[in-house]
Amino acid sequence: MTIKLAVTGAAGRMGKMLIEAIASADGVELSAAVVRAGSSLVGADAGELAGIGKNGVRLVGDLHEVVDDFDVLIDFTLPKATLENVGICADAHKKIVIGTTGFTDEQKSELLAAQDATALCLSANYATGVNVCFKLLAQAAKVLGDDYDVEVYEAHHRHKVDAPSGTALRMGEVLADSLGRDLNQVAVYGREGQTGARARDTIGFATVRGGDVVGDHTVMFMADGERIEISHKASSRMAFARGAVRAAEWLNGRKSGLFDMQDVLGLR
Ligand code: NAD
Repeated sequence: MTIKLAVTGAAGRMGKMLIEAIASADGVELSAAVVRAGSSLVGADAGELAGIGKNGVRLVGDLHEVVDDFDVLIDFTLPKATLENVGICADAHKKIVIGTTGFTDEQKSELLAAQDATALCLSANYATGVNVCFKLLAQAAKVLGDDYDVEVYEAHHRHKVDAPSGTALRMGEVLADSLGRDLNQVAVYGREGQTGARARDTIGFATVRGGDVVGDHTVMFMADGERIEISHKASSRMAFARGAVRAAEWLNGRKSGLFDMQDVLGLR
């Protein structure tokens, strides 16, 4: 049976990519696409918007209008919009793949409360390669332990509004967990002036923004005499879109609960 997918933020960079990824995947179809309320695109064809030719799906400005028309929603928008959409999906027992990043701790707990009513997949990065990196980082940190200084570098395009990236933060969490540290206690977000020598336990983050960089992440493990770097470089948003579609197919088989891309890929 074909799984019906909806996309919110359809006019966004990821939204358009998702429409294209759904069109080229087997076993799924786009059945609804939502843009911001009041957008001049309401009523336009979603396929034309994504540059893949007409697909007969009319863009709407309100998720309520199409809530009966899909099995799984894929949402890459803004934290506030995602929270509203999760509420609508939870009430209607519709599953939701969440790609949005930049949630505050408070927003995150609000979001997680929906897991009893429906199935949620929440991942800071849906690219398969990044999820393999998470696994490698956990293993490397376990073996290298406290003898190596750990730092996370990330670079993204000039339009990105949150920093460090959700992926860099997730990498930090994976590293901290493996090293038995609490990221809230040990994270250092940028350095300036007389910082003093590096404290052993810290996990530093460096952020670069500019141009059209889709997403670079490198974790460095540094000791006296050697350095290990584990890097992932995304060259197209299609890597995230394909992963999110794969997550939607997987999530369709779940009734409720909170999952992430590690579950989808069987990396747990
Ligand atoms: P974007 O600004 O291009 O797109 C966001 C879209 O959401 C915009 O078109 C905006 O109009 C729309 N929107 C806002 N509120 C809405 C609402 N209430 N209803 C419908 N649409 C609404 O941004 P983007 O580059 O596509 O990224 C979107 C989010 O996805 C960001 O948080 C980004 O960090 C995240 N992202 C996550 C991954 C991942 O793998 N998890 C990958 C890429 C981007």
